[in-house]
Amino acid sequence: MKPARPVATRGLMLVLSSPSGAGKSTISRAVLEREENIALSVSLTTRPPRKGEEDGRDYIFVGDAAFQAMVERDGFLEHAEVFGHRYGTPRAPVEAALEKGRDMLFDIDWQGAQQIAEKARTDLVGVFVLPPSIEELERRLHARAQDSSEVVRARMAKALDEVSHYAEYDYVVINSDLETSIEEVRSILRAERRRRTRQTGLTDFVNALRGEKR
Ligand code: ADP
Ligand code: 5GP
Repeated sequence: MKPARPVATRGLMLVLSSPSGAGKSTISRAVLEREENIALSVSLTTRPPRKGEEDGRDYIFVGDAAFQAMVERDGFLEHAEVFGHRYGTPRAPVEAALEKGRDMLFDIDWQGAQQIAEKARTDLVGVFVLPPSIEELERRLHARAQDSSEVVRARMAKALDEVSHYAEYDYVVINSDLETSIEEVRSILRAERRRRTRQTGLTDFVNALRGEKR
């Protein structure tokens, strides 16, 4: 195991958003595999599971009543309706992680990113993923082959609205070559981890350094 860093650091929230099919889930999975000290925020959703999706890993699949109960007890950091289903980020695991200096990765839409920006701007690092072209976006949505052609059509129509939200994010990655995009997101994460304001223990650390010299 790597030694702990000597400086106490607050965790960050790495939010990846994109029009559906641009590749944010694929990039997220790779970043989680390759980076330490970062975990996926698993959302609750009222959408039915897709083939291959696992309850508790990809989403926590719930009914409308359970979702609404969570809203009423203020259990969500953010929540929104997307394509006719409700999605929300449970608050408690995120707060616990950040306090322990662990980072969280979010695969959520622009509505969720906006809500987090209002509540916790300094913890948020927003990355918007764009497809290289609309034709390629459509090809990827079909290639995923997990949704009906009706759902793909609805998602394509919405994609054109969604791309306009790129301007609300700190970083933009154009996902042409997957490997390049993954490494770009990793670079963003690494740089953001070294932001001075996140390194909450710097004053103590520097004071100790100066003390040692004397
Ligand atoms: P999103 O999470 O943004 O809806 P996904 O990650 O599910 O999108 O990706 C949609 C489809 O596109 C998947 O089949 C995925 O394997 C594929 N894909 C993702 N990135 C690339 C890329 N850079 N080049 C080619 N195919 C890609
Ligand atoms: P999908 O149904 O393809 O898994 O997700 C549809 C959209 O909902 C994606 O843009 C995804 O990022 C977004 N989404 C997933 N979970 C959440 C969440 O907890 N909150 C918000 N606001 N959006 C979410």
